[in-house]
Amino acid sequence: MYRTHTCGELRLSDAGKTVTLSGWVQRIRRMGGMTFCDLRDRYGITQLVFDQDQPELCDKINHAGREWVLQATGRVAERTSKNANMSTGDIEIIVSSLVVLNEAITPPFTIEDNTDGGDDLRMKYRYLDLRRDAVRKNLELRHKVTIAVRDYLDKQGFLEIETPVLVNSTPEGARDFVVPSRMNPGQFYALPQSPQTLKQLLMVSGIDRYFQIVKCFRDEDLRADRQPEFTQIDCEMSFVEQEDILNMFEGLSRHIFKTIKGIDLPTLPRMTWHDAMKYYGSDKPDIRFDMKFVELMDILKGYGFSVFDNAEYIGGICAKGAAHYTRKQLDQLTEYVKRPQIGAKGLVYARIEEDGNVKSSVDKFYSQDVLQQMKSAFGAESGDLILILSGENANKTRKQLCELRLEMGNQLGLRDKNKYACLWVVDFPLLEWSEEDERFYAMHHPFTSPKPEDIPLLDTDPGSVRANAYDMVINGVEVGGGSIRIHDSQLQQKMFEILGFTPERAQLNFGFLMNAFKYGAPPHGGLAYGLDRYVSLLAGLDSIRDCIAFPKNNQGRDVMLDAPTELEPAQLDELKINVVKE
Ligand code: ASP
Repeated sequence: MYRTHTCGELRLSDAGKTVTLSGWVQRIRRMGGMTFCDLRDRYGITQLVFDQDQPELCDKINHAGREWVLQATGRVAERTSKNANMSTGDIEIIVSSLVVLNEAITPPFTIEDNTDGGDDLRMKYRYLDLRRDAVRKNLELRHKVTIAVRDYLDKQGFLEIETPVLVNSTPEGARDFVVPSRMNPGQFYALPQSPQTLKQLLMVSGIDRYFQIVKCFRDEDLRADRQPEFTQIDCEMSFVEQEDILNMFEGLSRHIFKTIKGIDLPTLPRMTWHDAMKYYGSDKPDIRFDMKFVELMDILKGYGFSVFDNAEYIGGICAKGAAHYTRKQLDQLTEYVKRPQIGAKGLVYARIEEDGNVKSSVDKFYSQDVLQQMKSAFGAESGDLILILSGENANKTRKQLCELRLEMGNQLGLRDKNKYACLWVVDFPLLEWSEEDERFYAMHHPFTSPKPEDIPLLDTDPGSVRANAYDMVINGVEVGGGSIRIHDSQLQQKMFEILGFTPERAQLNFGFLMNAFKYGAPPHGGLAYGLDRYVSLLAGLDSIRDCIAFPKNNQGRDVMLDAPTELEPAQLDELKINVVKE
């Protein structure tokens, strides 16, 4: 038997017992005639003690080094100097026998919470990185979340069903990862960007309630919250309306927060997409703090300040109690919004002084009277700071103001990671016009149903049609999204037409779905959560990487496996693939 207990288990009440532990050496220190060794496993750390009157044992431990794998047997004893920071800090093991199970070379970084290893090194030796408490805890959390999800959905009658990973390439999404087929030379599978059409087919099959915790693949440029392969909690239900889905999955989030965090989520507020854009400049507003946009076109236009006079949009935020911002801080904020990633031309500010007067950076154009009108539009009070952006393109300016709002939220400490603000964003537009391609794209995906009352507008003003689509947003992160689907093959065909598909093309790409619908498709809808994002939010992480065991880097590489790699010529021949090198 390798062990009787784990390294995190023994307490004072175990004193006197003879136990065997196995684990890795965290550190070894000699003090006086004694040698102490901290032995670590997944569950914790226990102190081993070697007495000098056991020279053979002392010799053995003194030859060992960091990360060696040891098995130690001994008696549990009360420590004279206890360590209150460790769960096993009241005891130690007086070792009577020691087995070296394996030696280890010195790891490239220290296996500690505050490791000396940089990002690249940690990723290359991810298996060592995962020995660190801080990282492993995220995997434990992830495991707990998936258990909570399965538990809730199972109780609600959902069936977990696996769908294939080798599927066909579909237009209209992100770029596909493709896999060549040896048995069908020149032909390729694609890896699923999501099991969207398959889960809809399962509804045609009468499965009624489906879910799957599933890997999805998208060949997109990577950012902190994106990985080329990621995991969805993918769900679909039959005979439902939007309201049914929102209630069911609000329930899921409530269950997750309660089991994982002990938090009772309040009823989730709902915000229309239109309001989200108008008041927060984003379809995923962070509503942990207020600071809503106030539009100022009516108040500030027409006083000779050309920047505002020529603007299509003037809007601002009021940072409560931030009038103490110094000139230097305001200059830094101006620089912040002028960075190319944000792209504002400048920033106008106004402080509300103690006497209630408004002192602004554009005082020479505006009378106190006008500035007071502005102050009341914000409901601002003495001590507040108003920040204003303007621009020729309303949507662009709103996005810039959104960045400024989030930055102010950060600076004023209003984005506490331990506080959660969840909401539904609803009534998304069905379509999005692309200036570049001069065509409409589906805002969610082509299977999303328009709101029934907006269907007539499909012929006259498709851009204004609203969808039965919804996103769940937590702390400014889109954690999930879905829609009620089209279940009528003719409406689906019309949707493809609006998206610029010829009937032949639609048949070729999506014939399987439209044909299936002819055999009696139930009304259905669903959604998918991004598991990685959800877990990283619950873990308070800035990046989804640290809740993924073996993530890829920003170039889409797995630096540990060194993937992707070139193939051997024989393998390429077999696949009938000719690699042309640039
Ligand atoms: N398949 C969708 C997605 O990946 C989610 C859904 O509509 O259910 O975003």
